[in-house]
Amino acid sequence: MNDKSQPARAENLPAKSRQTGHKMPESVADGGMADAERDILAELEKALGEHIALLLRWNRKLLLPNSSAPNDPHDADDDDHDCDFGAWHALNRHNRLIDQPAMHALATTHQQLHDSAKRLLSAYEVDGEVDSAEFDMMSLRAESFFAQLRRLERAFRTARSDVDPLTGTYNRQTMMGDLNSERERTIRTQVPTAIALVDLDHFKSVNDTYGHQAGDVVLQAVAGILQSHVRPFDKVYRYGGEEFLICLPNADMKQCARVLERLRRVIEASPVAISDDTVLPITASIGAAPMTKNRTAEQIIEKADKALYAAKEGGRNRVRVWRNPDRKPRAGKHQK
Ligand code: GH3
Ligand code: MG
Ligand code: MG
Repeated sequence: MNDKSQPARAENLPAKSRQTGHKMPESVADGGMADAERDILAELEKALGEHIALLLRWNRKLLLPNSSAPNDPHDADDDDHDCDFGAWHALNRHNRLIDQPAMHALATTHQQLHDSAKRLLSAYEVDGEVDSAEFDMMSLRAESFFAQLRRLERAFRTARSDVDPLTGTYNRQTMMGDLNSERERTIRTQVPTAIALVDLDHFKSVNDTYGHQAGDVVLQAVAGILQSHVRPFDKVYRYGGEEFLICLPNADMKQCARVLERLRRVIEASPVAISDDTVLPITASIGAAPMTKNRTAEQIIEKADKALYAAKEGGRNRVRVWRNPDRKPRAGKHQK
């Protein structure tokens, strides 16, 4: 679910600030404006990671009250220990890049999320029951928080030209840095992350038959589908010509296969109108691999590429997940 209630104000975004040369306070900027943007983006990413982990911890506390997560030294109520976002926002709220409605709305949603979690967990401790309305409220607020975070990040990144002009997905230049940070976070938090490569099937024939411009329309349509059907904290990059890379935090390979199978089906069910009288059916093949500490981001992409190759070999329009160095990629429950 995407929450579109609070668009980031364009006039407050980095490009404009760069023109005015507005000075950043030390809490955000340690140098030029580019550093301030980078720091804000890093803070948004950090908040995302922290709250994925918190949400898992809260859910675990409700589902498995007598066990703590592996490597989790904290109590589920000990949120403040693991969440710096509120303090960061309060400290920097008058900064020009941060003082905008979308950022304040994010801080409000953040506070509501914590309030909701606190109410839910303390009521559970008192009477041992999960209040379903409160649980739904917390889940919706978490979803809204993730969606708002991603939208703000996109606004900052668009201003920094981190976005591919044809498709609106993030470009390849930003990808490796992001994947390396994501990999470090996965190792640190032990919350699984997956990478997927999506490659359009027989796309060359679209160009050959209908022209390059029609091909561009198809690429834009598929990019739109990918961005609107992944989960709010997933990220889509243009990896190459007609290939996209998706980073899926908080997804083990089973969840990842489920999300990707859903995407595959949506693409298959969404033919693209390239003119008033021509609608083209489109399919994509998808390969995925898990992030692991013993492989670099480049090596993980290679594994996803192997799985993609298997999907193509298997007849296209299917999802394949790379599983084991000693075994060939094989079909899972959700694979076609
Ligand atoms: P497969 O099912 O094996 O993936 O076949 P394919 O035809 O999709 O793959 P192939 O690699 O042969 O062709 C990819 C085509 O994508 C060739 C290239 O011209 C086209 N392409 C790459 N970038 C763009 C772009 O920005 N716009 C358009 N219109 N076409 C592009
Ligand atoms: Mg290709
Ligand atoms: Mg292709």
